[in-house]
Amino acid sequence: MSEAVSFGRQHTGDLRLEAEVVVVGSGAGGAVAAAILQEAGHDVLVLEEGGYVHPDEHARMRPSQSLRHLWREAGLTATLALGDSPLINVMMGRCVGGSSMLTGGVCFRIPETVLHEWRQDHHLHDMTPEHLEPYYREVEEAISVQEVPKEMRSRSTQLFGLGAERMGFKLESMRRNTSGCVGWSTCNFGCPSGAKMSVGRTYLPRAQAAGTRIWSDCLVERVKIEGDRAVGVSGRVLNREGGRPGGRLTVKAKQVILAAGSLYTPLILKRSGVGRASAQVGRNLTLHPAFRIMARFEEEVRGGQGALQSAFSSHYEPEGIQFNSVFVPTGVLAATQPGVGDAHAERAAMLPHLAMFGANLHDDGGGTVHRIIGREPVVTYRMADKDRVAMRRALRIAGQTFFAAGAKEVFLPILGAPAMDPDQFAAYDLEHMPARRLECTSQHPLGSVRMAATAGAGVVDPDHQSWEVRGLYVSDGSVVPTSLGVNPQLTIMTLATRFARRFLGH
Ligand SMILES: Cc1cc2nc3c(=O)[nH]c(=O)nc-3n(C[C@H](O)[C@H](O)[C@H](O)COP(=O)(O)OP(=O)(O)OC[C@H]3O[C@@H](n4cnc5c(N)ncnc54)[C@H](O)[C@@H]3O)c2cc1C
Repeated sequence: MSEAVSFGRQHTGDLRLEAEVVVVGSGAGGAVAAAILQEAGHDVLVLEEGGYVHPDEHARMRPSQSLRHLWREAGLTATLALGDSPLINVMMGRCVGGSSMLTGGVCFRIPETVLHEWRQDHHLHDMTPEHLEPYYREVEEAISVQEVPKEMRSRSTQLFGLGAERMGFKLESMRRNTSGCVGWSTCNFGCPSGAKMSVGRTYLPRAQAAGTRIWSDCLVERVKIEGDRAVGVSGRVLNREGGRPGGRLTVKAKQVILAAGSLYTPLILKRSGVGRASAQVGRNLTLHPAFRIMARFEEEVRGGQGALQSAFSSHYEPEGIQFNSVFVPTGVLAATQPGVGDAHAERAAMLPHLAMFGANLHDDGGGTVHRIIGREPVVTYRMADKDRVAMRRALRIAGQTFFAAGAKEVFLPILGAPAMDPDQFAAYDLEHMPARRLECTSQHPLGSVRMAATAGAGVVDPDHQSWEVRGLYVSDGSVVPTSLGVNPQLTIMTLATRFARRFLGH
């Protein structure tokens, strides 16, 4: 990305702009749409609430700096749990490049079972692998999607793989959007070798080279509507001390594309009074509730050596479980260990011996984005019964897998649970463990402004245009009709490509 980003923070007073197309949000969905439309000759303006950090500068940051400058709420946004549900820590980017800047790079195409559901239950008849193929290819080439070589698997992943084989299932190699990855394992906090092909290194520079203007520190609050047409957006420039809302932001545009992500696109629509007819805005939110299981081995594992994410298993997908390899930089991991004083130091000293594996759930749409006073939404999440069953099952399988590989102890992501040896683990009543005790995160909010074949069933039509307001489109994770069960960036970028190509009449 060039330095040609305009910093709202440095602009004094109000800001008035004009463009043919305004894109709100510069993450995975917005960046793709902006580049394709600009390259086809449209005059595109991108507005981003977050600040601008060049990927090279991000690479030099400590995790604490990355959290402060690129992550929304320093990574601490959380859902309100309804019923027996975990409190889910939802992580997102708030920066030029959005959450794309923070990914582990994992890329999955949409599973055929999910596409089948979209065709069968949601009547989105052209959602077939054949129809999507050219769009997938376009994205995969643009962001350099390639299989992670087996040699790049960390010892942590190898050990889980060994246990899996002994348990009767296999790990497969993941694909990621990288070029020249050397396995620093710090992807979420910046890529030291510049290998991660986020939109900050791909689509945004392309858009800029073709003439797109990008403004950081610009918070869009509303879509301006005249009659049944979108005619621009309004909001605030974040140019007061500390990045607080200052001058008024007014943008006139013929077409408006919302790409603010699954928690913020519905908020902007609600503030603009769009979607009342269907009552679907903000509903159907899915999160892929995710957690990691750690295990201590006698040998030194040094799980941070190798690709952060390299292998997965969809063996338990029929039960709604996906296992993904993952690791966390040592400093961050040390900070999350329990205990104080010597007890904490003792736990931190065992870090080289820790292995880790992640699980995420192919959940039902139990989330809702609510608008309240102020800038942030409130998100409620009620975990479905079947997802609670899947969660306990995933913990059981992951623990057994590590023990099958020779682990001495496992550490479950359950509040208050002790380290367990094999006997203690076998005796632990996981199957009745309340879901609210799970330490759970989400990196994949989806579906809160879902695409639907009819007006009452969703917010946007199959061409991503609002059912209620002409010239208003959505191009981000919020349109994805259901949970995917797999990491979503490739889906979001592929749908954004399909949207942009159809917008152009291709
Ligand atoms: C730590 C982490 C790791 C991840 N790893 C992976 C992975 O390995 N593989 C994978 O497939 N996915 C991964 N994801 C998920 C992936 O990054 C997201 O699914 C994807 O980027 C979402 O795209 P989006 O366009 O919907 O939203 P985003 O990329 O989040 O972009 C939305 C942008 O809109 C901006 N915005 C919000 N509100 C406003 C407003 N009012 N005005 C102006 N701008 C606004 C935000 O600041 C943000 O920059 C990860 C996510 C995180 C957080």
